[in-house]
This record gives sequence, C-alpha cells and structure tokens, in this order.
Amino acid sequence: MAVDHTFAGNPLDRADVRRRDPAWLAAAAHSTEARYLPLWQLNVLVDAGLGPATLGWLDTATIERLGVEQPPIFLGLDHKDRPCFTLDISEVADPHHELALPEGLAFQESRGAAMSLPQADTGILAQARAQVGWHRSHRFCSACGEQTVMQKGGHQRHCDACGTDRATGPWCALVCFPPWRASLIRGKRSRRRCAGRSGKRRG
Ligand SMILES: [Zn+2]
Repeated sequence: MAVDHTFAGNPLDRADVRRRDPAWLAAAAHSTEARYLPLWQLNVLVDAGLGPATLGWLDTATIERLGVEQPPIFLGLDHKDRPCFTLDISEVADPHHELALPEGLAFQESRGAAMSLPQADTGILAQARAQVGWHRSHRFCSACGEQTVMQKGGHQRHCDACGTDRATGPWCALVCFPPWRASLIRGKRSRRRCAGRSGKRRG
C-alpha cells in the first residue's frame, strides 16, 4: 500500500558542495533568480489566492526591502537550478503591511498549513521550519555562552570565541507502515541503554 508521508519528499537539491562556498552563497542570496520562503514567528507564508494552496515564495527585491538583519538559510536548488532560501522575518512587526501582500497570501501556522499544501511543498516547509526553529534556539554557544554565527548557508553555527561548531541536520527515524493496517509502528527499546549520553547521531 502506497502511503504519502506529509513533510517528506523534499524535492530540493541541498547542494552540499556549493553551500560550503561563502562567495557562491552570497551571490546566490542576492541573485534575481533566488526565491525566498519567509517565516514569521515560525508561521509560513502561504499563497492561496489562485487555485490550490502553495508555499508563498517571494523574490529577492521584495525580501531585501524588509532590511532583515537575520542571514537567510539556504534550502537548496529547485528543478530550475534556482537558489531557494528561507528567512526568519520575526523582527518585522507587521509583515503583511511591510510586504504589501496581495490578497490570498497570508502567514499560517506551519503544521496546519501543511494540511492544504502539495506534498513536495510540505517537505520544503519541514526543512525551513526545522532550520529556522533550530537557529532561533541555538544563538549562543553551548560550550562558552558567547553568541554564535551561522555558516554553510544555515547548516552550522560557529563560535568565534572558542571554536565550537554545532551542525543542524535531519534526525533519522525508521518507521514501518504495515499494509494490513493504516497505522504507524514506532520501534522503541524497553529500557534506554544510553541514558545519560547524548542522543543518536544525525544521519
Ligand atoms: Zn564558544
């Protein structure tokens, strides 16, 4: 039985080699071909104006008019090789007004918005929401407490004070959908063998 997993199937090419090149990232972020998915207070911009709802991508000029200090997070390249970013615009008091959003575009709570988005869009939303949320809660170094800076297009934060790096990344979990029952089985040990240690490695 085929099962569509909401928040899975992100079609973007994460371009791991390119995201390690600060010069390329800077040029891509200012490119007229770049697309930006803004998140405000972790709510995502959704375009429900014409036809089925889709993610509310904005162009570079519209985003740059906001003057947001947060650096953008590189999501990857789309099927037309256009660089796609997400940007936390929570510092903007009234994004609807500042962006002069046309009718049909509005910020929606991310999990609720996913119920009306195409599956590929929910995969992109999951990546954007997870990374923006992670950076909001990891602004300071866990080793020395100093403020950290974003690197690799948002896949890492670095502490200039002590040199510590912290990387984001998807946490992998294995699930099984038995064909005889539309329910989710999640494996779990009866007793944690690694209690007191950090969790599983990202992969
Ligand atoms: Zn540090």
